[in-house]
Amino acid sequence: PASQIPRTEPALPQGVSRTTFNTAIVELTQQLGAANVELNDKPAVDNGWYMEHPNTHDMMHVTDEDALVASAAVYPSSTAEVQLIVRWANQYRIPIFPISMGRNLGYGGAAPRVRGSVVVDLGKRMSNILNIDPDDYTCLLEPGVSFYALYEAIKAKGYDHMWVDTPDLGGGSVIGNTLDRGVGYTPYGDHWATHAGLEVVLPTGEIIRTGMGALPGSNTWQAFPYGFGPVQDGLFSQSNFGIVTKMGMTLMPNPGGHESFMYAFERDSDLAPLIEIIRPLRICNVLENVAQVRSAVQTIAVQGRPRTDFFTGSGAIPQEVIDKEVSKLPCGKCAWLYYGMSYGPAYIRQYKLDAIDKEFRKIPGARKVDPQTIPRDNYFWSRDQIAAGVPDLEELLWCNWVPNGSHIAFSPVSPIRGKDAKQLMELARRRHTEHKIDLFPAFCVGLREMHLIVEIVFDKTKPEARKAAMDCMRGMVDDAAKLGYGEYRTHLALMDQVAGTYNWNDNALMKLNERLKDALDPQGILAPGKSGIWPKRYRARGWEM
Ligand code: FAD
Repeated sequence: PASQIPRTEPALPQGVSRTTFNTAIVELTQQLGAANVELNDKPAVDNGWYMEHPNTHDMMHVTDEDALVASAAVYPSSTAEVQLIVRWANQYRIPIFPISMGRNLGYGGAAPRVRGSVVVDLGKRMSNILNIDPDDYTCLLEPGVSFYALYEAIKAKGYDHMWVDTPDLGGGSVIGNTLDRGVGYTPYGDHWATHAGLEVVLPTGEIIRTGMGALPGSNTWQAFPYGFGPVQDGLFSQSNFGIVTKMGMTLMPNPGGHESFMYAFERDSDLAPLIEIIRPLRICNVLENVAQVRSAVQTIAVQGRPRTDFFTGSGAIPQEVIDKEVSKLPCGKCAWLYYGMSYGPAYIRQYKLDAIDKEFRKIPGARKVDPQTIPRDNYFWSRDQIAAGVPDLEELLWCNWVPNGSHIAFSPVSPIRGKDAKQLMELARRRHTEHKIDLFPAFCVGLREMHLIVEIVFDKTKPEARKAAMDCMRGMVDDAAKLGYGEYRTHLALMDQVAGTYNWNDNALMKLNERLKDALDPQGILAPGKSGIWPKRYRARGWEM
C-alpha cells in the first residue's frame, strides 16, 4: 500500500494528477510567497513534541503513520488569503483541511481526514489578539491565539479582574479547541457556550459574520451571541462547512479568591453513590467547575513515570500494584479522587465547602486530603492552576506511561447517575480486559451530563498496540451506542463510526448535514469526511473508515 512506501514526494489527494498538483502549487506559491507554501515531501515522518508538533500529520497517530498525511501545509496571513486558498482549492478540486494550531491530540492532531489534503494552518500567521475589552469582559481572537498567549496578554495589560478558561493543556488554540467543543475547568469551562460571534470563510469563498457581527458597525458582536434570525454558529463547530477566521470569547470575572480541594474514595464501588451526590451539587452550582472524578491509576501515571517502574508483566497492570503505588502518594490508598475548586472570598467558599464536605462524607471512608500536606510538585497543584485559569502542560506526563506514548480518547456523554457511571465503567473494563490495555478513566461532570473520558495510551511505533487501541475504541463506541450513550467528540479515524451511531429516524440528521454540505461546498473541497460528513463526489465510494 502507498502508505508503506517511504515518501520523498507529497502524498497526492486521490484523483489529482501530479502535473495538476504541481501547477496548482506553483500558482499558490506565487500568490502567498514561497515561505508560506510548504510541501510535505520529507522521507520520514517527524513527530516532534507537543510544543513543536508537525502540522502535516497526527504526532500521536493511531493509524499507519503515513495514512493520514497532508500533501502540503499553507500559511495564510489574513481572511483575504484564506478566501484566496479556498478559491484555489475549488479551481483545482484539491481537498483542504483547516487547523488553528493542530494540537488536537487524542482526536487526530493536525492530520487531515483525507490523505493528501492541503492543511491550511491558520495559526502560524493569524495569531493576533484583535481586542480585549476590560469592561465587557470579552475578547476577539484569530486562530493562532493559544490559551497561554491570551492568558499572558491579559496579565501584560494588568487586567487582573479577568480570567481565561484553559483546558488541561494550555498550548492549544482558543478557536480550535472551542470549535471542537473542548472543555476547561473554571465555571467558564464549556468553551462553545462562552464564545460570542464568528467570522467565517465559506467553502465557496464568501465571508460571513454571525450574531451581531452581521450588522455593519455593530458594537455588541462579543456581548450578544445571537443577533437576529437563525443562529448559524453551530454550523461551524465540529463541521466542514466553513473556516473560522475570527472568534469572540467571553472572559470570566476574577472571583476574588479560590481554593482547590481533593477527596479520596476508597472503594471502586464508591463511584455510583458519589456520582449521585455530585449531581444536585453540580446542577445548583455548589460544585462550580467541571468536576473531575479520576481513577487512582491515572494519578499514578501522571507522575510521568513509565508503567515498567511499577509492573513489567504482560496484560493490564494488576489491582494490587495500583493499590500499593497509590498508597505511597499524598492521597493514600483509594480507588477514586475528586478534584474540585471553590470560588469567591473565604467566607463564601467556606459555606460551599462545608456543604460539599457534609455530602461527600456520606460515603464511608471518604477523606479530604489537606492541601498543606501535598508537595508542590504533586499533580494536585497542576489541577489547582488549571481550575484558576492558568495554562499548564503537566497533564501530558501520563503519555510517558509507555515508550513513544500516544493516546486516543473515548468520550461518551451520559446522565449524571450512578447507574450510568457503573454501566460505562463495566463496558470500558470489559473491552480493556479483552485487549489487555490499562484503563485510565475520568468522569468530567458538566452541568446536567457527564463525559467519561477514557484515555488509551499506546506505543505508536507498535502496529499491534495501535490495533489493540483501535479495536478497543471501536468496541466501546458500539457497546455504548447500544446503551444510549454517544461520543461528544472523536478521533478522525472514528468519525464515520461515531456519526453512524447518531442515526435516529433513518439517519435524518446526516441527511440534513449532507444537504447542507452539498449546498455550501458543491465541489466538496473543505475537510471531506470531517465528522462523517462526506461531500457528494466522495459519498458511497469507500472512503468511510
Ligand atoms: P486544532 O487542532 O487547531 O483544531 C481542532 C479541530 O477543529 C481541527 O482538527 C479542525 O478540524 C477544526 N478547526 C480548527 N480550527 C478551525 C478553523 N479555524 N476553522 C474551521 N475548523 C477548524 N481537550 C479539551 O478540550 N480539554 C482538555 O482538558 C484536554 N486535555 C488534554 C490532555 C492531554 C494530555 C492531551 C494530549 C490532549 C487534551 N485535549 C483536551 C485535547 C486537545 O489537546 C485540545 O482540545 C486542543 O486544544 C485542541 O487542539 P487545538 O486547540 O490546536 O485545535
